[in-house]
Amino acid sequence: MKLNLNIQPLNTWINKAGIEPLLIAGPCSAETEDQLVATAHLLAKTGKVSALRAGIWKPRTRPGEFEGIGSIGLEWLKRAKAETGLPTAVEVATAKHVEEALAAGVDILWVGARSTVNPFTVQEIADALRGVDVPVMVKNPVNPDLSLWVGALERINNAGITKLAAIHRGFSSYEKSAFRNEPMWDLAIGLKTLAPHLPIINDPSHITGNRDLIGYISQKALDLDMQGLMIESHIDPTVAWTDAKQQVTPAALSDIIDNLHLRKPEVRDAAVNDKLHELRNQIDKIDDLLIQKMAERMQIVEKIGNYKKDNDITILQVNRWDEILQKRIGYAKALKLSGEFTEKFLELMHSESIRKQTEIMNEGQEAAPAEKLTHA
Ligand code: PEP
Ligand code: MN
Repeated sequence: MKLNLNIQPLNTWINKAGIEPLLIAGPCSAETEDQLVATAHLLAKTGKVSALRAGIWKPRTRPGEFEGIGSIGLEWLKRAKAETGLPTAVEVATAKHVEEALAAGVDILWVGARSTVNPFTVQEIADALRGVDVPVMVKNPVNPDLSLWVGALERINNAGITKLAAIHRGFSSYEKSAFRNEPMWDLAIGLKTLAPHLPIINDPSHITGNRDLIGYISQKALDLDMQGLMIESHIDPTVAWTDAKQQVTPAALSDIIDNLHLRKPEVRDAAVNDKLHELRNQIDKIDDLLIQKMAERMQIVEKIGNYKKDNDITILQVNRWDEILQKRIGYAKALKLSGEFTEKFLELMHSESIRKQTEIMNEGQEAAPAEKLTHA
């Protein structure tokens, strides 16, 4: 299934004067006129930045924290743009934000992760955008729910906004990890599969929460063919009022970009394409074989299920499962496959086998729902 979005390509709404792909950079928050304007000048000087971002209204988890400088910041953005020529981008979360930002001549708007989760908020923003020709970027929702992201993009697109992009900023997760927000790349790939023409911009700052990991995530995003990066940059990150740990100086940003390897999604060289084609053919054949073998395996699982049913044996025998896991993981590791990958793969296959055998045991009763793996 493909989404029915009416989209204009990125180059119709932003001049990629800087690097290819697009780079949007600027402080997490506009704090003072000097901080914003001075940061903008340094960013413009790198020659790599296509637009200046700055949070004017900040969604904060706890009240009493700095909630953004408010409307006065829009005047500073105007000055930064007049002096540097950089188009400007801000987050909007209410109809009033949209109206004020547009009145102040902001060039690009974005919907934040905490707004995307709420269809009422997104609809309010969409209604305020009706009849306006302005580019809008929609961040993924805080929680890993592709439908909410898609729904927000649809609401904005239905309001007539065709200069549309998604921002991948990672997802909140209960488990502790090296990242502030888990990238969960498969969700961004899921969106790309549903809407191949929708530009996706990666936000490594909010994914990592850590300036040392920004280069790593940026490279990965580019390797997955994302069309741009939004990176927080502050003239002096150590004293930033918000998100200090993840901001980089304009000079550090420039280094991060210089160290990226910019690959192309397609090549024109016939010899390179032929080789790729041949390797892809090999992959196709192996995938066909894997599916055939999985189907064969499942037929045997069914036979075992029937046998267990006839002999009143439980579906799960923990010892047997443990033996399978240990043996296979050992074998896989010897063949240079990662143990973690092999374990996940076996667990997925095992859970499907259990589902199948449960169905056989309970034939004639209501079908078992597919259950989610605890490890998936
Ligand atoms: C931001 O970009 O500063 C921001 C608040 O991000 P997010 O909505 O991704 O948390
Ligand atoms: Mn931020």
